[in-house]
Amino acid sequence: MEEKTAKFLRSLYARYYASHGPVEPEDIGHREFAFMTFGERMVIRHRGFGSYDELKAFMAKLGPSDAFYSSAYFQRPDEPDMKAKGWMGADLIFDIDADHIPTSCKGEHDIWACRSCGHWGTGEAPDACPRCGSKELAELKWICNKCISAAKEELIKLIEVLEEDLGVDRSDMVASFSGHRGFHLRVFSEDLRNLGQDERGEIVDYLAAVGLDPEALGLGPGAKLGLDEPGWRGRLAKAFYSLLYRADEGTLRALGLRKKAISALLASKDLILDSIEHGRPIYLPRGVGKSSLKKLLLACAEEAAVKVDPVVTRDTHRLVRMSGSLHGKTGLLKVDIPLDEVEEFDPFSSALAFERDWAKVRITDSLPVVPALRLADEDYGPFEPGETVELPLQAAVFLMCKEVAELA
Ligand SMILES: [Zn+2]
Ligand SMILES: [Zn+2]
Repeated sequence: MEEKTAKFLRSLYARYYASHGPVEPEDIGHREFAFMTFGERMVIRHRGFGSYDELKAFMAKLGPSDAFYSSAYFQRPDEPDMKAKGWMGADLIFDIDADHIPTSCKGEHDIWACRSCGHWGTGEAPDACPRCGSKELAELKWICNKCISAAKEELIKLIEVLEEDLGVDRSDMVASFSGHRGFHLRVFSEDLRNLGQDERGEIVDYLAAVGLDPEALGLGPGAKLGLDEPGWRGRLAKAFYSLLYRADEGTLRALGLRKKAISALLASKDLILDSIEHGRPIYLPRGVGKSSLKKLLLACAEEAAVKVDPVVTRDTHRLVRMSGSLHGKTGLLKVDIPLDEVEEFDPFSSALAFERDWAKVRITDSLPVVPALRLADEDYGPFEPGETVELPLQAAVFLMCKEVAELA
């Protein structure tokens, strides 16, 4: 990023914080704060603030590219030695990143290019350029409605499992769009604050169905399974029902089932669906045995598992992006979303910070093309390297933050 661009973004972010500020963090006096800056990418850690006004003034002066606070509560949050901070507990944090969910759109909008020979491709970047072997690759990860929807689905599953299976109160949960490619869920509860890493890890394992064994849940041939059962049995029942409902030869073959089992399943589909719907022993036709059922149920577990980042949840000293702060890679806001509005939430209209003004930017030449962008129902791009364009500020900031444009 050129210094001119970094300076522009720093002052823009600073002005934003002077007028808006982030959402006031809960229990501010016991949190550690951390910031990053545009340009030289300075990292400022171990900051403590006595009041919201002090925090806001600091951010309005610095114009940080990214602003974080600790999920943990500390007696002395500004102490640089972690051991001396005096850990008092930590909120339970979940991170859902579209990056970790395979979606077809990545092959369309994620681009990499070799800085040495210019060879390029779409999707995830290889370790080295397949043409010249150089490891100097430019990589662009984009976001679109498809990846956001996929991440949203995981968030909805997460809220459901936490509430229904683990008894977490909805009023203790705060869901947010991260400002980039995912969603966060934070649980503020005195009861959970003192959980250690292993206990948090157990929660992740439960969500992700790690080590789930259908037989241990009593699910073998002839077992009764109802759609409204609690816990993983009920989740498997629903996933099994919808898997069979949609099943064709191709999907069943992909699960590793034999030809005979596939045709038997397809021929008796209605009877099996009917048995699950009425909570009767699962009807299994001849040719579908114990091992086929297990394969089917494990595929269902995979489908119903909640894809959260296990590292984030286990960590009792995690830094979390502040709600109401701007993301350094997009210029979008991290916004909290009421739990019952997750489904219809659209970051490309609800996470915009800069509505007025325009800016002129020059597209860099590190990539052969910069994908199109849709903000507030307007389409921008795709852009060509070297092109100079005047754009609404939000779109211009997005491109500069993604480091595919410089201030012209
Ligand atoms: Zn190359
Ligand atoms: Zn996408």
